[in-house]
Amino acid sequence: MVSRVIPVDPFDLVIFGGTGDLARRKIIPGLFRRFCSGQMPPEAQIIGAARSEMTDAEFRIFTAEAIAEFGGSAVVEDGMLDAFLDRVGYVVIDAKGEGGWKELSARVRDNLVHAFYFSVAPSLFGDLAERLHEHGLAGDEARIVVEKPFGKDLESARALNAVLEKHFDEHQIYRIDHYLGKETVQNLMAVRFGNVLFEPLWNAQYVDHIQITVAETVGVGGRGSYYDQSGAMRDMVQNHLMQLLCLIAMEPPAKFEPDAVRDEKLKVIRALEPVEPHHIVRGQYAATDTASGYRQDVENLRSFTESFMALKVHISNWRWAGTPFYLRTGKKLKARTSEIVVVFKDAPHSIFGVDAGRHRNVLAIRLQPNEGMTLDVTIKEPGPGGMRLVDVPLDMSFAEALGPDAEQATEAYERLIMDVIRGNQTLFMRGDEVEAAWAWTDPIIEGWIRRSDVPKTYDPGGAGPEDALVLMHRDGRRWRELKA
Ligand code: NAP
Repeated sequence: MVSRVIPVDPFDLVIFGGTGDLARRKIIPGLFRRFCSGQMPPEAQIIGAARSEMTDAEFRIFTAEAIAEFGGSAVVEDGMLDAFLDRVGYVVIDAKGEGGWKELSARVRDNLVHAFYFSVAPSLFGDLAERLHEHGLAGDEARIVVEKPFGKDLESARALNAVLEKHFDEHQIYRIDHYLGKETVQNLMAVRFGNVLFEPLWNAQYVDHIQITVAETVGVGGRGSYYDQSGAMRDMVQNHLMQLLCLIAMEPPAKFEPDAVRDEKLKVIRALEPVEPHHIVRGQYAATDTASGYRQDVENLRSFTESFMALKVHISNWRWAGTPFYLRTGKKLKARTSEIVVVFKDAPHSIFGVDAGRHRNVLAIRLQPNEGMTLDVTIKEPGPGGMRLVDVPLDMSFAEALGPDAEQATEAYERLIMDVIRGNQTLFMRGDEVEAAWAWTDPIIEGWIRRSDVPKTYDPGGAGPEDALVLMHRDGRRWRELKA
């Protein structure tokens, strides 16, 4: 398969927080890959901006090191790195001060797209927006990219939106949820709306339930103090899992256009029913003989923050009335996997009798690892002995089906940055969407604070607390096994 890369127009991209972890691991290596693929034009300019004293030359060394460490293993033509570094510069800037802003204005070129990536703590978003405005950099050609977390509740999200909207229109604000930039997440829409096969069955009449799992094998790592303030609900469910839920559950938009898609996602969030307390399971990974537990990792031995969540969710609309969605996410689980599983209902009548057993079609969409899709289909078990049925998977690995190009699929961040330059907001969250997601999340969090809910401990390397299994068993269902 030959991939077609359409170059974007020349641009100036300023990375506030250019010396930070995200810039080093994701943004800079991603831009380099887009440059090598021919998508980022040679006329583009990238400017790192942060308080650390650095010259252009020093930032180029920082950039080259970031690419060496996180650029991936793709073979790059000779001279590509130097050509890329020629496009890179640095300005010493303090979001809260005046120094550096005149220099930045002088370096940003007229009549081009200006993208300002706010890869800094959200507490600086307002300062950056204000300074950009003061220095004449918030014009029509400007776009700002803001990172998660977008608030910690409805009130803070509204405040952040208000700060940004003071100087930028909604069409200039790109709120990143990098899950939306993943190849397979977009494939969800292609599978649903590009095939005639699934859509007629995509409703409560034919779907028994849907599972969304985002499991990690790692613990909180070095993010302990941030994570303990946030927990799985704020860190994963309110944004990533919610976005997956929207894409799976939404009505077909009239067009694959930003507001058409986001309008439909918003309707899903607004149709979410409040979650009953007994439909929520929270957990914390326990210590083992050889490894510390959650509370030691976050250095808070009295922490009640969850590193695992499972919940059963209902969407009150015609399409989904009566079909539950089970969401789970957690750290230190058995496998690193992100998966959406659509479990269809039994055939209305079995002509094979009770001995044939119970069989269901299951569509599993794997987001990671090994992106692909499996559809369990019921067939006759081969051999003599009568009509015995068995479920076999029709297994499609995108890498196998589409060849090496699929394996080198564009990473989420680079795709999203190119979308910013193109001015395509389809894969970014709109302000009202984020607020609606918090409006649904807040009462859940308030509920367990009111009830002094204590998360259940779970053994690392398993599937989370026992109660999460019970959540499904009570309904006569079970989670799909976590497999790497
Ligand atoms: P980080 O490593 O702490 O980097 C923060 C950056 O901000 C540094 O470059 C720092 O450089 C700069 N900075 C701090 N104060 C500043 C000021 N007053 N004026 C200008 N620059 C300032 O953080 P990060 O991990 O890169 O995260 C950046 C943002 O992305 C955060 O909002 C985070 O929540 C979000 N995010 C990060 C990740 C990730 O994987 N890292 C994932 C998702 C979201 P100086 O100290 O030199 O000024």
